Amino acid sequence: MISPNPQSLREPALREPAVLETRSDSSTEARSSTGALAQPTAGQKSGWTVVVSRGQSRNPAKRGLEQAIADAAAQMPGVNVVVVPHLYDLPKGGESLQTLAQFDGNLIVVSWIFPRAAHWVLDRNNIRGQFVPPQIGDEADADEADGDVSSVAEGADGDTEIERVSDLFPRPKRDVHCLDLKVSDDQGVYIGEIQRLIQPAGQPEQPPVADSNSSSGGVAGSLPIIGGQILQVDETTSRRWYPVIDFNRCTNCMECIDFCLFGVYGVDGAETILVEQPDNCRKGCPACSRVCPENAIIFPQHKAPAIAGAEIEGEEGFKIDLSKLFGAPDTGDDAIATAARERDEQLLLAGRDAIGIDEQLKKRQADLNRKPKDQLDHLLDSLDEFDL
Ligand code: SF4
Ligand code: SF4
Repeated sequence: MISPNPQSLREPALREPAVLETRSDSSTEARSSTGALAQPTAGQKSGWTVVVSRGQSRNPAKRGLEQAIADAAAQMPGVNVVVVPHLYDLPKGGESLQTLAQFDGNLIVVSWIFPRAAHWVLDRNNIRGQFVPPQIGDEADADEADGDVSSVAEGADGDTEIERVSDLFPRPKRDVHCLDLKVSDDQGVYIGEIQRLIQPAGQPEQPPVADSNSSSGGVAGSLPIIGGQILQVDETTSRRWYPVIDFNRCTNCMECIDFCLFGVYGVDGAETILVEQPDNCRKGCPACSRVCPENAIIFPQHKAPAIAGAEIEGEEGFKIDLSKLFGAPDTGDDAIATAARERDEQLLLAGRDAIGIDEQLKKRQADLNRKPKDQLDHLLDSLDEFDL
């Protein structure tokens, strides 16, 4: 059961976690449940910070789960807690991102999107660090492959090694752990994982303490409770749709910038690909994710897990071939044909001419068709685990 207000996580004699609300006039106010004012603690910016990203829906159970995690984390010593609207919807330069930029220690990000998606959404907004594969959920098994992928990619001849963008431009050393709220509706799963992560190295793990609000017996309360603060940013956001690049996979090949005819992609001063005009992206269109040879383009809200950022590496960690997995289940088209069709639909909707499969796409399609059959069989086996 999800508790919307897990009082059992707190010692009765201790004060409520203070809630700091940021407002559009840039003032920051700390408010406890008793109405007393509080101020941010000294040293708030370092150490561990738990970021709870709220879902887009107002589902009470989801809100209760988010609140329970924030409340429990706020009781953990040395942990800052920030609650923001849905990560993907945050406007650049807005209050939420400005607030998050003030914290430079390790992050634990709890959100309703896949961990890869959450990590690279933050990265594009300059909240950067090292992606740490999650230890909870289905992705835990596939994590090592993703952690290794940044080192090399094979060139077309199978010999040359291609560097990933994150190798060329390493991210800061701090760890960014992302927990997917879709994994479980049991708050104890997340609270226990947060406790495990913040446990200082070398210290024995605290024995789990049963949480009466948790359906499976959670672990809330196993650390000393000293009270805490929740910094809640109530920023107005609207739903967005744009691609997010996983730079641990991206090889800067520029296929996406050539393919997209809506000016979404650009390059920075170092000639590195970036999503320059995210809001130019056509709502619901995932076409470029199908043509990226490294499966590096994520649409966090897409219904297909691979496009939304799920880890679905094959047994040997080989790349997922979106051409077959996410072509078009209803028509049997491969990914290139599907991408071309989706692009044409958007061109027509925008009052422009359809162009179909151009020469560049034909070449890519031919390359894909030369791939060995056994890999494809593996890939299709991997898909069986997903409800597509
Ligand atoms: S197509 Fe993929 S790998 Fe190539 S630049 Fe774009 S995101 Fe990077
Ligand atoms: S999804 Fe379509 S419109 Fe959006 S960036 Fe990709 S190709 Fe461009």
